[in-house]
Amino acid sequence: MDPLFVKVHSNDNVAIVVNPDGVGAGLEFAGGLRAAEPIPQSHKVALSPIGRGEPITRYGQMIGLANRDIAAGGWVREDMLDLPSAPALDSLPLATAVPAPLPALEGYTFEGFRNPDGSAGTKNILGITTTVQCVAPTVDYAVRRIRAELLPRFPNVDDVVAVTHTYGCGVAIDAPGATVPIATLRHISRHANFGGAPLVVSLGCEKMQPARLFPSGLKIFDEQPQVVRLQDQRGFGDTVAAILRYAEKRLEELNRRRRVTVPASELNVGLQCGGSDAFSGVTCNPAVGYAADLLVRAGSTVMFSEVTEVRDAVHLLTPRCANEQVARDLIREMKWYDDYLSRGSADRSANPTPGNKRGGLSNVVEKALGSVAKAGTSALAAVASHGERVTAKGLVFAATPASDFICGTQQLASMNLHVFTTGEGSPYGLAMVPVAKVSSRTALAEKWPDLIDVDAGKIATGHATIEDVGWELFRFLLDVASGRKKTWAEHWGLHNALAPFNPGPVT
Ligand code: CA
Repeated sequence: MDPLFVKVHSNDNVAIVVNPDGVGAGLEFAGGLRAAEPIPQSHKVALSPIGRGEPITRYGQMIGLANRDIAAGGWVREDMLDLPSAPALDSLPLATAVPAPLPALEGYTFEGFRNPDGSAGTKNILGITTTVQCVAPTVDYAVRRIRAELLPRFPNVDDVVAVTHTYGCGVAIDAPGATVPIATLRHISRHANFGGAPLVVSLGCEKMQPARLFPSGLKIFDEQPQVVRLQDQRGFGDTVAAILRYAEKRLEELNRRRRVTVPASELNVGLQCGGSDAFSGVTCNPAVGYAADLLVRAGSTVMFSEVTEVRDAVHLLTPRCANEQVARDLIREMKWYDDYLSRGSADRSANPTPGNKRGGLSNVVEKALGSVAKAGTSALAAVASHGERVTAKGLVFAATPASDFICGTQQLASMNLHVFTTGEGSPYGLAMVPVAKVSSRTALAEKWPDLIDVDAGKIATGHATIEDVGWELFRFLLDVASGRKKTWAEHWGLHNALAPFNPGPVT
């Protein structure tokens, strides 16, 4: 392969090396630029001389200031950029460039499970919620018994999943931050893929009592709350028998459900990235953004999240908000997170990982500019706070941390399908919803052919367009939502632990 780089925007003075083995010193790119030194794949090459103190520009935006002179063809390494300050939150343009609605896409459907509350599931799962970590091993034991002894008799039920977590006790449950994990667990418990309702296993003495988790009650069958309270039971054997008894009854109900044709507008697709590299912003994230536009056109909900990866690109998003209130809501979430980080004596520079940097991402500004490409081009219809269930259709910003397993857990409050983009690679998966993984580089898709579902790396080498991969992903998502195809994470049963975001104090 001849030396090749990808330049995103005409104003950029850096570009990304495409060649899997990098380029050697002195090799010439098409157009005449020579590499001044060896530059690894996905790292930046200077397209022209950049003087000390001058801006380094990618995506048409400043990602940093050069802290030394850089020659044309030089490797622009992370230590050569000084981090610019984040966009000020008090002077952002509000809804000044609202995109016109995209043309509707009619007739796209999937085969889903209808719920009494009107939502639609992409799977049919028996959910068992726990109110506290203390009961998790007991519930895990019961789940193993249910899988082995009961589930084979109910062929229309896909799985049994325990909602276990580290919350529930030893926490300041009346602190303002406590509403986030509690609301998250409430919404997860009533997930569309659980038929809208779980069984509940409680210890008895914990702070998060079932009534606290479900203040408006919880009726599943017989108009009775289905709660097993361990401290009311005679020993472990009776406890497990009680859980199995309830589980069998609930399985009988779930087993009567059948997939029916529902409009694609019933999809709620959560987007996030993990293990991003410098390609993420030119291949997988724009392709996901194109698919996001297709979903929005089909009437679906598309959520993007990860506040610290939006913060440095917020000036590109506030003009796109559907109205000034949505823009103010977005700014409110940025401000909340700025304050949260400063309480922990951290700032946004804490975001990039060693893997991000190995993958050529110099800092959080460059990471954020690539990350928001997932959001496509439509108007931002609504903003949800941490733990809130998203009910709006269209493109929604749902505030979460960027941590993969915390973001995924928070998005589970609303989503019935998950898209995960990755450059460095992660085998991430969730038990409750299908997770489709999209790679930024073909080298990753070739290294992990049994983990990556869609390869967007072919965009960088010119073997496919952003539109091609966007449509490929959109169609794959409809197949996965219908149970016609399985993601690799489903195939292998890769289920990351749930990790609700708890911004409140632990006691
Ligand atoms: Ca993430």
